[in-house]
Amino acid sequence: MIIAITSIIAIVVIVFVLGVRPKDLPEPEPVSPFAHLDERKAAIYDNLRDLQFEYRVGKLSDNDYQLTKKDLQKELASVMAEVDRVKLQLQGGRASSPPVPAPKVKAVQDPLTCPHCNARFEVELKFCGECGKPMKAVRA
Ligand SMILES: [Zn+2]
Repeated sequence: MIIAITSIIAIVVIVFVLGVRPKDLPEPEPVSPFAHLDERKAAIYDNLRDLQFEYRVGKLSDNDYQLTKKDLQKELASVMAEVDRVKLQLQGGRASSPPVPAPKVKAVQDPLTCPHCNARFEVELKFCGECGKPMKAVRA
């Protein structure tokens, strides 16, 4: 009888352990593109709070406080910008990749810019008002 009870308890314990264990593990978080940004934002806010506290208790000079605060705010702004960028990316899909800087100021397809001298005009012209050459690229 005692053995039976013991083994039942053992089984219950095993079932309990096996059943509970998976729940103890951190649940796989939904992959959020904002998760790491939120973390960074929270960290920056923490730092700002600490900074304000240290300033208030006199651990920091005015100058140090202002400088560090500015740094943190700059960082915060960049995180916010990143959040906006990710948001846009999610909304617009492929349409809104990060702005690619134009490699050179060579607006071949811009009908308002002379391909020869790069003069720019308000209206589309057949011939450049600066150098007199045809405004359309010859190759096209
Ligand atoms: Zn021209």
